[in-house]
Amino acid sequence: MKLDDAALDRLAPDRRDALLVEWVRRQIAFMRTHVPFWSDRLAKAGVVQEQIQSLADLARIPIFSKEEFRAARPASLIPSLATSSPHVGRWTSGTSGRPTVTFWSRTDWAALVASTARMLARHAPVPAPIAFNSYGQGHLTGPLYGAALRRLGATVYDRSHHPEEFFSTLAQTDLFDFDTLIIPARATRGKSAGLADLLDDDPNLLARHGVRWWIGSSGTFDELTVRLARAQGVESISNLYGSSEFGIFAISCAERPGEFHISQGHVLVEVIDESGHPVPNGGRGRIVVTHLCGLEEDGGARPHAGTQILRLANGDAGTLLTDACECGLTAPRLRDIRRVPVAA
Ligand SMILES: [Zn+2]
Repeated sequence: MKLDDAALDRLAPDRRDALLVEWVRRQIAFMRTHVPFWSDRLAKAGVVQEQIQSLADLARIPIFSKEEFRAARPASLIPSLATSSPHVGRWTSGTSGRPTVTFWSRTDWAALVASTARMLARHAPVPAPIAFNSYGQGHLTGPLYGAALRRLGATVYDRSHHPEEFFSTLAQTDLFDFDTLIIPARATRGKSAGLADLLDDDPNLLARHGVRWWIGSSGTFDELTVRLARAQGVESISNLYGSSEFGIFAISCAERPGEFHISQGHVLVEVIDESGHPVPNGGRGRIVVTHLCGLEEDGGARPHAGTQILRLANGDAGTLLTDACECGLTAPRLRDIRRVPVAA
């Protein structure tokens, strides 16, 4: 099964889980061989890949906390340079402490781009979109959206590096014609601009450009901004979810916009209870993510070769839905994603 194959999101759940178990066993074997940090940690926990017969068996592996991730030197989580070398590196925002960094090898990055493209392809309202990408290139999402859309045959114009007050996003959009706008709903912590801000300043922006697709990731897209976008002719709204340590790994359902279909393969996403076991359908728990696969040039999956992260609690909780979705996908969904309050 290739990571850019749309069938991955329509497989019978037990077939997909069997594939994920195979990949996670291979990843654990890779970590034990190439990364002393993980071979030590897994030895202490008494974990070997042969014990992982089902996704429930992952409960044997202790959760990797953000504090532990932050305490590790970045290079200690990367295999030896003879095995792979960092191709792309991006840092987290650092809202809960010193920023951390993830490095992707060339094949890891290809997997992340292919998986993001796989999610976006389902929503594309036009065959060859022309997009303005208002995300900064210094963070993960800017280059990731650009690469994923280009993989789908889109033309992508990237925003400049200038701060909003010097050269605004609105002024930059005036320089281009586009039918797809990549932008968060609202500016976060003074960074860049959100669609709501642009519409405050220029209420007819989307209709004037003939924008048909809005792509972004900034938590919930508020109802007012969604309504304004729809009223101006936007046909497709794609709200994506992920975290800086992993990139994008879920996208809003076309039928149920408040639910996010998880894209498994380049990562493994679990929702777990207090004991580290997967919650049942409808259950709520912490979101835990593992770097899983890279993508070979021939389309085959190989172990993730950059920063090794096994079962990191990304700081969010969500409700897991595993029943069939009316949109036709079998990929599990997340709903009501919220930050987990940090213990005092
Ligand atoms: Zn759906």
